[in-house]
Amino acid sequence: MRHVVILGSTGSIGTQALEVIDSRRDQFDVVGLTAGGSQLDLLAAQVREFAPRLVAVPTEADAAALRALLPGTTTEIVGEGGNERAARMPADVVLNAITGAAGLLATLATMEQGTTLALANKESLVIGGRLVTDAAAPGQLVAVDSEHSAFAQALRAGRAKEVRRLILTASGGPFRGRTRAELADVTPEQALAHPTWTMGRVITINSATLINKGLELIEAALLYGVDLDDVTVVVHPSSDVHSMVEYVDGATIAQASPPDMKLPIALGLTWPDRVPDAASGYDWSVPRTWSFEPLDDEAFPAVELARTAGKAAGTAPAVYNAANEVCVDAFCAGDIGFLDITDTVEAVVMEHLSGEHVADADLTVEAVLAADAWARARATEIVARVAP
Ligand code: NDP
Repeated sequence: MRHVVILGSTGSIGTQALEVIDSRRDQFDVVGLTAGGSQLDLLAAQVREFAPRLVAVPTEADAAALRALLPGTTTEIVGEGGNERAARMPADVVLNAITGAAGLLATLATMEQGTTLALANKESLVIGGRLVTDAAAPGQLVAVDSEHSAFAQALRAGRAKEVRRLILTASGGPFRGRTRAELADVTPEQALAHPTWTMGRVITINSATLINKGLELIEAALLYGVDLDDVTVVVHPSSDVHSMVEYVDGATIAQASPPDMKLPIALGLTWPDRVPDAASGYDWSVPRTWSFEPLDDEAFPAVELARTAGKAAGTAPAVYNAANEVCVDAFCAGDIGFLDITDTVEAVVMEHLSGEHVADADLTVEAVLAADAWARARATEIVARVAP
């Protein structure tokens, strides 16, 4: 029996994780759930269904509202600080499926507690950087992102010293093939229509700008200890090949499966063991073509910007992420255009690099949080100037 804590249980990853668990109740026990408080009815239903020992929401007011929905419950209902409380519960695995920088403290708490972390919340690793990797025991960090799960699977095929480079695949998002000029007027509705994945709002917009691929580039380098220049991004529209590892002899090992997050989620919960029937494989009796193409860095500069931020390390990745979170909200609210997202992130990152950047050697949680707050304020100022 694996005892599981799910942070961000009401989201796209969280609900799919609970679906994986629901059909395997003899293998999994849900001990803790947390969410952001915007879907309390769903969270209450999850508590009734899975009877965790603890459920947490961000504020005392949310906790009071949740208590009102769960009269007579034996589940402890926690407000502020609840993600960290849940992350420190006795458990075999904590799945961090929170969106954005809000997941950082829970990731660090899980590391400190020594529990295996199934990491969907890539932002916490990207912004925490060395603070997270230094705190992780060997094997404690398990990737849930499909690309990074693919790396982990393909890395089983050789030794670390035999790896030449990682090939990170990208669907290219809904605007693949467009020039920069053709991106000027795209709408939030168009950006939210991802061609191959159904995901939460932020990651879907990030997939359209390729900011998500930028975050994943830094995530890959941190998770697998490779140089950022040894991670190559390639566009693969159908999202069948989730990523590849190229070895020194020229062999490339790819992991492929129909796009379905249940596979990497299940693998993340049980790594290194596989969960039978977690997802379906291919029907090879029908013709199938997979294509690959280089990324257009001019139309989608977010990946190279992430490479710059990742190389600068320290507080730069936190600034890249925080400025983006502000811009995603502004774009979805109709306040800025699509191109303004990456342009603003670039302006804020460059300003940070020539100013208050804290290097990796001096990185602290306080420095990350301060850089995050500064980037949000700076991006908000720029967005206000751009907004109509
Ligand atoms: P969603 O927006 O669908 O879900 C986010 C979850 O986080 C919700 O349960 C939300 O609660 C919760 N949440 C928000 N703020 C807090 C907080 N302060 N404390 C606790 N919970 C909080 O996002 P996704 O599931 O799509 O993505 C989650 C993470 O997984 C992201 O980092 C994303 O990049 C990554 N990921 C997602 C993939 C996908 O297919 N969706 C694929 C690969 C990675 P509520 O909304 O109820 O308030």
